[in-house]
Amino acid sequence: MKTSPIIQKPLTRRDIISLAEDIIIEYVKEKGWNRVEDFKLDLQELYEYVIYPRYEYQLIQSEDLGYKENEKVLGKVISNDRVILIDRSISPPNFDARFTFTLGHEFGHGVLHPGSKEHFRCSSKDILGSAIIDEREVQANCFSEHLVMPNNLVLELIKLCYHPDKPFIYIGQGEYCFDVFGKNVLKKIGSYTEFCRMLAWPLTGFFSDISRLSLGLKIHKLGIISNRTQEKFSISNTRYGGTPKIGQVV
Ligand SMILES: [Zn+2]
Repeated sequence: MKTSPIIQKPLTRRDIISLAEDIIIEYVKEKGWNRVEDFKLDLQELYEYVIYPRYEYQLIQSEDLGYKENEKVLGKVISNDRVILIDRSISPPNFDARFTFTLGHEFGHGVLHPGSKEHFRCSSKDILGSAIIDEREVQANCFSEHLVMPNNLVLELIKLCYHPDKPFIYIGQGEYCFDVFGKNVLKKIGSYTEFCRMLAWPLTGFFSDISRLSLGLKIHKLGIISNRTQEKFSISNTRYGGTPKIGQVV
């Protein structure tokens, strides 16, 4: 068994991002990918190639993990026993857009918080909520974000997909034309959030079928779009971040 890297507390954001990037680099090396267009993350495969050999966590996806404060528990980590569990309701063959980010989040607890005596039981409030207080949940989310959607690969794949010769500019609701892998696509866009989700839409398959919302948020955080309005990115549960409009991309 390889020894897990032990990081002295406190973990910095830079430590967390470096660890996630290190795991992705090893995965890409194992796959023998040399070009950005080769990249196609499969998080379950990454588990087999890197997470299990390095950290020896078992991955169980067949159990019902119950509820916590009336919220469905989506993932659980028992660090001492080296077990990661993902609730069966979101695990394949069920298709649920939350699966990928949840798996990355639980890998985060496993990698960042080894030897913890507590069990981590994570609901959608811990994983996808907008007001997370527990520092370890924030750390697991940071890890998941950078494991599933590494900054440089998101930027490179945006270039590969859209060949932008000028910055993306959002000026408010209206019809926008996108060049998606060489094909012109005309879309009615109702909000800044929807613009981010539209850019994410052709690329989710490169990132283990991450949700458009998660990848859209990443695109927002990377500042890829010049937002000329006062609108903010919305991660509320309304799928549109505002009033639904005909032709909106979800
Ligand atoms: Zn958690």
